[in-house]
Amino acid sequence: MSAELLVIHTGGTIGMMPGPAGLEPVQGFERMVRERLGARLGALPTFDFIELEPLIDSAELSPGHWAQLVALIEQHLVQYRGIVILHGTDTLAYTAAALSFMLAGLDRPVILTGSQIPLHNSRNDAEGHLLGALELAARPEIHEVAIYFNGRLLRGNRATKMDAGAMAAFDSPNFPELATLGIDLALNEQLLLPAGTPKFSVATCDADSVAVLRLFPGLSAGQLQAMLGQAHCRALILQCYGVGNAPVSQPGWLETLEAAVAAGKVVVNISQCYRGAVVPSTYATGSALERVGVIAGNDMTLEAAFGKLHWLLAAGHSAAEIAGLMQRSICGEMG
Ligand code: ASP
Repeated sequence: MSAELLVIHTGGTIGMMPGPAGLEPVQGFERMVRERLGARLGALPTFDFIELEPLIDSAELSPGHWAQLVALIEQHLVQYRGIVILHGTDTLAYTAAALSFMLAGLDRPVILTGSQIPLHNSRNDAEGHLLGALELAARPEIHEVAIYFNGRLLRGNRATKMDAGAMAAFDSPNFPELATLGIDLALNEQLLLPAGTPKFSVATCDADSVAVLRLFPGLSAGQLQAMLGQAHCRALILQCYGVGNAPVSQPGWLETLEAAVAAGKVVVNISQCYRGAVVPSTYATGSALERVGVIAGNDMTLEAAFGKLHWLLAAGHSAAEIAGLMQRSICGEMG
């Protein structure tokens, strides 16, 4: 009989060891996990362990890795109560968001975790994250992709890495946590997604199809055009100011956006603020964007907007269909 859970190790600090140039992933992490967690695993569901080869520092991740993970999950999901994915923290929120769409309709938990300090260090946050993720991955109430980190379970497409140097590396700025693991496990059951039937989207589009441009004072129409004018760029996420404002009276700005939209590119407006939503009709500088066809991304994180665009483009939707779907919540990614 197979084990109850599957752990997929992709790399990241959690399993790294010091190398000549700094921390690097090392194959063979399962042995260390079983040795270090020892008897404490006895109280938890049993697990099988798959390690990607090569393991990666998640800074090296590209959208093709998401398809690789979804294919693995599709192959194994029915045999297990849930899946734990061990992942570097740098792009963990991107992977969690992308998988939430690529596995939309999940009927069991897929829990991503990592750590700020490697398991091999005597003092670390890896042990608690591994134990917590194993506990959560066996919970029948959870039917979605989520991140377990520092005692909190966050919706995968609502999270962002917000601290490079603290144990609380992740937050969910626009949506409450799904659960906390303190003395007891406290699940916010009313927030959890209902069980569905997963669709397993393994299609990918070119890694450079979606670009991101964070506005800054003085950003010119020429700089905007430099990104939008590239043939491979099919969608651009504009990280605008506040509730979605941009310097729309700068020469050529609106014309550049209008021409890109007319050429079939998708432009999405999200806020560069840590918390809050895009409400473009609030200011003239925001509603001008709407008039030329820029889509409001509501309160989506950058990671969610990025993963959703990749998923929609890979599925072959037209620009008009993508514009509609970007403004609708598919799996809890927007308010
Ligand atoms: N560079 C590492 C990674 O993302 C950082 C981490 O895991 O915390 O793989």
